[in-house]
This record gives sequence, C-alpha cells and structure tokens, in this order.
Amino acid sequence: MSIGPNTVAVFHYTLRNEAGEELETSRGGEPSAFLYGANNIIPGLEKAMEGRNSGDIFTADIAADDAYGQVDPKRQQRVPSKHLVYKGKLKPGMVVQLNTSDGRVPVTVVKAGRHSADIDTNHPLAGQSLSFDIEILDVREPSAEEVAHGHAHGPGGHHH
Ligand code: ZN
Repeated sequence: MSIGPNTVAVFHYTLRNEAGEELETSRGGEPSAFLYGANNIIPGLEKAMEGRNSGDIFTADIAADDAYGQVDPKRQQRVPSKHLVYKGKLKPGMVVQLNTSDGRVPVTVVKAGRHSADIDTNHPLAGQSLSFDIEILDVREPSAEEVAHGHAHGPGGHHH
C-alpha cells in the first residue's frame, strides 16, 4: 500500500532548518502518524510523502510557502499573560504556547510586561525552508473512527 487518499502513514522524522541545524526529531521516541488529506502535516511534506511505501527512506526539502508560510509582520498582538503557557519567566524571544479556542499554538514573545505580553503569532518556523529526513514505518488503511476524527490514532497518533 502506498501513501495517498485513504491511508494512515507512520513515520520517523528529523527536521533541519536551512543551515542544517537539527530542530526536532522523533527518532529515539514515538514515531509520528498522519491521516492523508486531513491537514495533519504541512502541505509540502504531505506531497513529498505521496506514493511512498513502508521502508522508504528519503529527504524532503520544503520551501517556506509549502511549510509554515512567510512571516507576516502584522501578526503581532498584546495578550494577557494568563493566556500563555510557559515555564519560568517570560522573556523576549521565548517560544510559548498560546491558549486559543482551537487549542494551543506556539507563539514568540516580543515584549513581556507584568500582566500582558506582546506576542508574534507567526509560526516559529515561518519564513524558513525546511528539510525532513523521513523513514516510513507503516502504511495502512484508516479506521472509520480515524476518518471521522480527521486524524490518526494509535502509536504516533492521537490518544484519547
Ligand atoms: Zn481521534
């Protein structure tokens, strides 16, 4: 079975930025899983995965437009600090989680005040081209429940 419509793919990845620095890896931990066509992963990575099979190992280089998009200078706002999830003291440059009605999203602190913070809601990886070293571990049919939820369950997927 190849990755495409009506499949779930389980994979390991190592993510690097343009400079070749490692930003994230799933190796040594639980793999990731995605339901094809459900916006579980960035569009460029999904396109690079299409047609791949279990056991495939490859590198996907993805331009910013197909990853987290370009930096929008207008996406800055002031929010109450209590809407932010972080450890320690808020400092400019910190990446923290913002509680929104759609769940938590990563944002970057621009300026930290006593009760509020100016944050940049561009994704921390916006404006960057990314490189993923991918190893496909499994490709399978999704369950009806996974299709209904719009994401993969089990190892690498959501745990309810
Ligand atoms: Zn679910």
